[in-house]
Amino acid sequence: MIILVSLIIGIVITSIIVIETSPKETPKQKEQEPILESTGSTQENEPQPDDFYRNAEFVNKHCTSLKDFIINDDFNEYDLRKLADLNKIDLQINEGWYPITIELIRDLDKLGWNKEVSCIKEKYARLEFYTKAKFESDIYNLIEDYGEKSESICETCGEPGTIITNHGAWMYVACEKHYTINRGTIIVEQDGFKFNGNFHAWDEFKNASLEESQYYKGQLILTLEYKVPKQVSPGRTDNSLMVFSHSIGFDNLIDHAQNRFKNLLPN
Ligand SMILES: [Zn+2]
Repeated sequence: MIILVSLIIGIVITSIIVIETSPKETPKQKEQEPILESTGSTQENEPQPDDFYRNAEFVNKHCTSLKDFIINDDFNEYDLRKLADLNKIDLQINEGWYPITIELIRDLDKLGWNKEVSCIKEKYARLEFYTKAKFESDIYNLIEDYGEKSESICETCGEPGTIITNHGAWMYVACEKHYTINRGTIIVEQDGFKFNGNFHAWDEFKNASLEESQYYKGQLILTLEYKVPKQVSPGRTDNSLMVFSHSIGFDNLIDHAQNRFKNLLPN
Protein backbone atom coordinates (compact mmCIF):
# COMPACT_ATOMS: atom_id res chain seq x y z
CA MET A 1 0.00 0.00 0.00
CA ILE A 2 1.72 0.44 -1.13
CA ILE A 3 4.56 2.12 0.61
CA LEU A 4 4.96 5.82 0.25
CA VAL A 5 7.41 6.31 3.02
CA SER A 6 8.32 9.74 1.84
CA LEU A 7 4.72 10.82 1.61
CA ILE A 8 3.90 9.40 4.99
CA ILE A 9 6.83 11.15 6.56
CA GLY A 10 5.39 14.32 5.15
CA ILE A 11 2.28 14.01 7.22
CA VAL A 12 2.31 16.61 9.90
CA ILE A 13 1.92 14.79 13.16
CA THR A 14 -0.12 17.54 14.71
CA SER A 15 -2.68 17.25 12.00
CA ILE A 16 -3.72 13.74 12.83
CA ILE A 17 -6.53 13.08 15.14
CA VAL A 18 -5.78 9.49 15.76
CA ILE A 19 -2.96 9.08 18.16
CA GLU A 20 -0.23 7.04 16.61
CA THR A 21 0.65 4.04 18.65
CA SER A 22 3.76 3.01 16.82
CA PRO A 23 6.96 5.00 17.04
CA LYS A 24 7.40 4.97 13.34
CA GLU A 25 5.08 4.89 10.37
CA THR A 26 4.93 1.55 8.71
CA PRO A 27 5.91 1.54 5.09
CA LYS A 28 2.76 0.67 3.39
CA GLN A 29 0.18 1.56 1.15
CA LYS A 30 -1.24 -1.86 1.00
CA GLU A 31 0.17 -3.94 3.73
CA GLN A 32 -3.29 -5.35 4.13
CA GLU A 33 -2.93 -6.77 0.68
CA PRO A 34 0.09 -8.73 1.65
CA ILE A 35 1.17 -10.37 -1.53
CA LEU A 36 1.00 -7.46 -3.81
CA GLU A 37 2.30 -4.18 -2.65
CA SER A 38 3.61 -1.14 -4.25
CA THR A 39 6.33 1.13 -3.17
CA GLY A 40 3.95 3.82 -4.10
CA SER A 41 3.64 6.40 -6.70
CA THR A 42 5.24 9.73 -6.81
CA GLN A 43 3.75 12.89 -8.11
CA GLU A 44 6.10 12.74 -11.08
CA ASN A 45 5.02 9.24 -12.01
CA GLU A 46 1.35 9.73 -11.45
CA PRO A 47 -0.60 10.03 -14.67
CA GLN A 48 -2.26 13.37 -15.05
CA PRO A 49 -5.67 13.18 -13.37
CA ASP A 50 -7.31 13.92 -16.69
CA ASP A 51 -6.05 10.61 -18.02
CA PHE A 52 -8.18 8.46 -15.81
CA TYR A 53 -10.95 10.97 -15.20
CA ARG A 54 -11.63 11.64 -18.83
CA ASN A 55 -14.42 9.11 -19.38
CA ALA A 56 -15.68 9.04 -15.82
CA GLU A 57 -18.90 10.65 -14.69
CA PHE A 58 -18.79 12.21 -11.26
CA VAL A 59 -20.01 15.19 -9.34
CA ASN A 60 -16.70 17.00 -8.97
CA LYS A 61 -15.29 16.29 -12.41
CA HIS A 62 -14.52 19.91 -13.10
CA CYS A 63 -13.87 20.99 -9.53
CA THR A 64 -10.47 22.59 -8.97
CA SER A 65 -10.56 23.59 -5.31
CA LEU A 66 -11.77 22.19 -2.00
CA LYS A 67 -13.84 25.30 -1.53
CA ASP A 68 -16.01 24.30 -4.49
CA PHE A 69 -15.99 20.59 -3.79
CA ILE A 70 -19.48 19.10 -3.61
CA ILE A 71 -20.52 16.24 -1.35
CA ASN A 72 -23.98 14.87 -2.14
CA ASP A 73 -25.86 11.62 -2.72
CA ASP A 74 -24.30 11.20 -6.18
CA PHE A 75 -20.77 11.40 -4.79
CA ASN A 76 -18.92 8.33 -6.10
CA GLU A 77 -15.51 6.66 -6.13
CA TYR A 78 -14.10 9.15 -8.60
CA ASP A 79 -15.17 11.96 -6.31
CA LEU A 80 -13.37 10.18 -3.52
CA ARG A 81 -10.24 10.07 -5.63
CA LYS A 82 -10.70 13.72 -6.54
CA LEU A 83 -11.03 14.66 -2.89
CA ALA A 84 -7.70 12.94 -2.21
CA ASP A 85 -6.12 14.76 -5.15
CA LEU A 86 -7.37 18.14 -3.98
CA ASN A 87 -5.96 17.39 -0.54
CA LYS A 88 -2.70 16.33 -2.21
CA ILE A 89 -2.75 12.87 -0.67
CA ASP A 90 -2.87 9.33 -2.00
CA LEU A 91 -5.91 7.18 -1.42
CA GLN A 92 -4.29 4.35 0.50
CA ILE A 93 -7.19 1.95 0.79
CA ASN A 94 -8.49 -0.85 -1.38
CA GLU A 95 -11.76 -0.68 -3.26
CA GLY A 96 -13.73 -2.71 -0.75
CA TRP A 97 -13.54 0.24 1.59
CA TYR A 98 -14.54 2.92 -0.90
CA PRO A 99 -18.28 2.68 -0.06
CA ILE A 100 -17.75 3.00 3.69
CA THR A 101 -15.34 5.89 3.15
CA ILE A 102 -17.86 7.67 0.93
CA GLU A 103 -20.51 7.14 3.59
CA LEU A 104 -18.16 8.61 6.17
CA ILE A 105 -17.52 11.65 3.97
CA ARG A 106 -21.24 12.28 3.53
CA ASP A 107 -21.76 12.09 7.29
CA LEU A 108 -18.76 14.32 7.94
CA ASP A 109 -20.20 16.87 5.57
CA LYS A 110 -23.39 16.98 7.63
CA LEU A 111 -21.25 17.91 10.64
CA GLY A 112 -19.71 20.84 8.81
CA TRP A 113 -16.35 19.22 8.12
CA ASN A 114 -14.00 21.51 6.14
CA LYS A 115 -13.17 18.78 3.56
CA GLU A 116 -9.54 18.73 4.63
CA VAL A 117 -7.99 15.32 5.14
CA SER A 118 -4.29 14.59 5.49
CA CYS A 119 -4.40 10.81 5.14
CA ILE A 120 -6.85 8.09 4.11
CA LYS A 121 -5.40 4.68 4.71
CA GLU A 122 -5.65 1.28 6.28
CA LYS A 123 -3.64 0.77 9.41
CA TYR A 124 -3.80 -2.24 11.68
CA ALA A 125 -6.89 -3.47 9.86
CA ARG A 126 -8.75 -0.22 10.36
CA LEU A 127 -9.79 2.72 8.20
CA GLU A 128 -7.79 5.78 9.21
CA PHE A 129 -8.99 9.21 8.16
CA TYR A 130 -6.94 12.08 9.50
CA THR A 131 -8.45 15.51 10.00
CA LYS A 132 -7.70 18.36 12.35
CA ALA A 133 -10.79 17.62 14.42
CA LYS A 134 -10.29 17.84 18.15
CA PHE A 135 -10.21 14.73 20.28
CA GLU A 136 -13.73 13.64 21.24
CA SER A 137 -15.38 16.18 18.95
CA ASP A 138 -18.36 15.03 16.88
CA ILE A 139 -16.15 14.71 13.82
CA TYR A 140 -13.52 12.80 15.73
CA ASN A 141 -16.09 10.41 17.16
CA LEU A 142 -17.75 9.85 13.80
CA ILE A 143 -14.43 8.88 12.26
CA GLU A 144 -13.80 6.52 15.16
CA ASP A 145 -17.18 4.87 14.58
CA TYR A 146 -16.36 4.31 10.93
CA GLY A 147 -12.93 2.99 11.85
CA GLU A 148 -14.64 0.41 13.99
CA LYS A 149 -17.11 -0.47 11.21
CA SER A 150 -14.27 -0.98 8.74
CA GLU A 151 -12.86 -3.75 10.89
CA SER A 152 -15.56 -6.10 9.68
CA ILE A 153 -15.57 -5.20 5.98
CA CYS A 154 -13.29 -6.97 3.52
CA GLU A 155 -11.02 -4.26 2.20
CA THR A 156 -10.77 -6.00 -1.15
CA CYS A 157 -14.43 -6.55 -2.02
CA GLY A 158 -16.59 -4.88 0.64
CA GLU A 159 -18.21 -8.12 1.81
CA PRO A 160 -18.29 -8.98 5.50
CA GLY A 161 -14.83 -9.87 6.68
CA THR A 162 -12.74 -10.44 9.73
CA ILE A 163 -9.38 -9.21 10.84
CA ILE A 164 -6.78 -11.64 9.63
CA THR A 165 -3.94 -12.34 11.97
CA ASN A 166 -1.14 -14.78 11.65
CA HIS A 167 1.08 -15.42 14.65
CA GLY A 168 -0.18 -12.13 15.93
CA ALA A 169 1.45 -10.24 13.10
CA TRP A 170 -0.89 -10.09 10.15
CA MET A 171 -3.57 -7.52 10.36
CA TYR A 172 -5.93 -6.67 7.58
CA VAL A 173 -9.60 -7.24 6.97
CA ALA A 174 -10.61 -9.89 4.48
CA CYS A 175 -13.46 -12.19 3.66
CA GLU A 176 -12.59 -15.86 3.43
CA LYS A 177 -12.21 -15.76 -0.32
CA HIS A 178 -9.81 -12.84 -0.29
CA TYR A 179 -7.76 -14.23 2.53
CA THR A 180 -7.07 -17.24 0.33
CA ILE A 181 -6.36 -15.12 -2.73
CA ASN A 182 -4.21 -12.69 -0.79
CA ARG A 183 -1.79 -15.40 0.16
CA GLY A 184 -0.87 -15.55 -3.49
CA THR A 185 0.51 -18.21 -5.78
CA ILE A 186 3.62 -17.81 -7.92
CA ILE A 187 4.42 -19.94 -10.93
CA VAL A 188 7.80 -19.31 -12.51
CA GLU A 189 7.77 -19.45 -16.31
CA GLN A 190 10.38 -19.04 -18.99
CA ASP A 191 10.84 -15.26 -19.15
CA GLY A 192 9.02 -14.29 -16.04
CA PHE A 193 6.46 -15.55 -13.60
CA LYS A 194 2.77 -15.68 -12.99
CA PHE A 195 1.57 -14.13 -9.79
CA ASN A 196 -2.08 -14.87 -9.02
CA GLY A 197 -2.58 -15.55 -12.69
CA ASN A 198 -0.98 -12.33 -13.96
CA PHE A 199 2.19 -12.71 -15.98
CA HIS A 200 5.17 -10.50 -15.17
CA ALA A 201 8.17 -10.56 -17.48
CA TRP A 202 11.59 -10.19 -15.88
CA ASP A 203 12.28 -7.50 -18.46
CA GLU A 204 9.68 -5.26 -16.83
CA PHE A 205 11.91 -4.87 -13.80
CA LYS A 206 15.13 -2.96 -13.37
CA ASN A 207 15.96 -3.81 -9.75
CA ALA A 208 15.15 -6.21 -6.98
CA SER A 209 15.63 -6.20 -3.24
CA LEU A 210 14.80 -8.56 -0.43
CA GLU A 211 14.14 -7.44 3.10
CA GLU A 212 12.15 -8.27 6.17
CA SER A 213 8.80 -6.58 6.55
CA GLN A 214 8.76 -4.18 9.45
CA TYR A 215 5.03 -4.49 9.58
CA TYR A 216 4.60 -8.24 9.37
CA LYS A 217 7.13 -9.91 11.59
CA GLY A 218 8.92 -12.86 10.08
CA GLN A 219 7.81 -12.06 6.53
CA LEU A 220 10.28 -11.29 3.78
CA ILE A 221 9.33 -8.98 0.98
CA LEU A 222 10.76 -9.24 -2.50
CA THR A 223 10.48 -5.83 -4.11
CA LEU A 224 10.78 -5.76 -7.89
CA GLU A 225 11.13 -2.26 -9.23
CA TYR A 226 9.48 -1.52 -12.56
CA LYS A 227 11.48 0.09 -15.33
CA VAL A 228 8.37 2.06 -16.19
CA PRO A 229 5.81 2.67 -13.42
CA LYS A 230 2.76 0.56 -14.01
CA GLN A 231 -0.79 1.84 -13.85
CA VAL A 232 -2.69 -0.88 -12.02
CA SER A 233 -6.03 0.86 -11.69
CA PRO A 234 -7.48 4.31 -12.21
CA GLY A 235 -5.56 6.56 -9.91
CA ARG A 236 -3.00 4.05 -8.82
CA THR A 237 0.43 3.73 -10.36
CA ASP A 238 2.88 1.30 -8.84
CA ASN A 239 6.62 1.77 -8.95
CA SER A 240 7.21 -1.78 -7.92
CA LEU A 241 5.71 -5.18 -7.38
CA MET A 242 6.03 -6.57 -3.88
CA VAL A 243 5.74 -10.23 -3.07
CA PHE A 244 5.53 -11.56 0.46
CA SER A 245 7.31 -14.72 1.47
CA HIS A 246 4.10 -16.40 2.59
CA SER A 247 3.05 -16.63 -1.07
CA ILE A 248 3.02 -20.13 -2.43
CA GLY A 249 6.09 -20.65 -4.65
CA PHE A 250 8.10 -17.80 -3.10
CA ASP A 251 11.35 -19.75 -2.68
CA ASN A 252 11.39 -20.76 -6.31
CA LEU A 253 10.76 -17.16 -7.33
CA ILE A 254 13.72 -16.04 -5.22
CA ASP A 255 15.98 -18.63 -6.87
CA HIS A 256 15.11 -17.23 -10.28
CA ALA A 257 15.26 -13.62 -9.17
CA GLN A 258 18.79 -14.23 -7.88
CA ASN A 259 19.84 -15.25 -11.38
CA ARG A 260 18.49 -11.98 -12.73
CA PHE A 261 19.54 -9.61 -10.02
CA LYS A 262 22.99 -10.36 -8.71
CA ASN A 263 22.63 -8.02 -5.77
CA LEU A 264 19.96 -10.29 -4.40
CA LEU A 265 22.07 -12.42 -2.15
CA PRO A 266 20.79 -15.66 -0.69
CA ASN A 267 20.07 -15.16 2.98
ZN1 LIG B 1 -13.42 -10.09 0.00
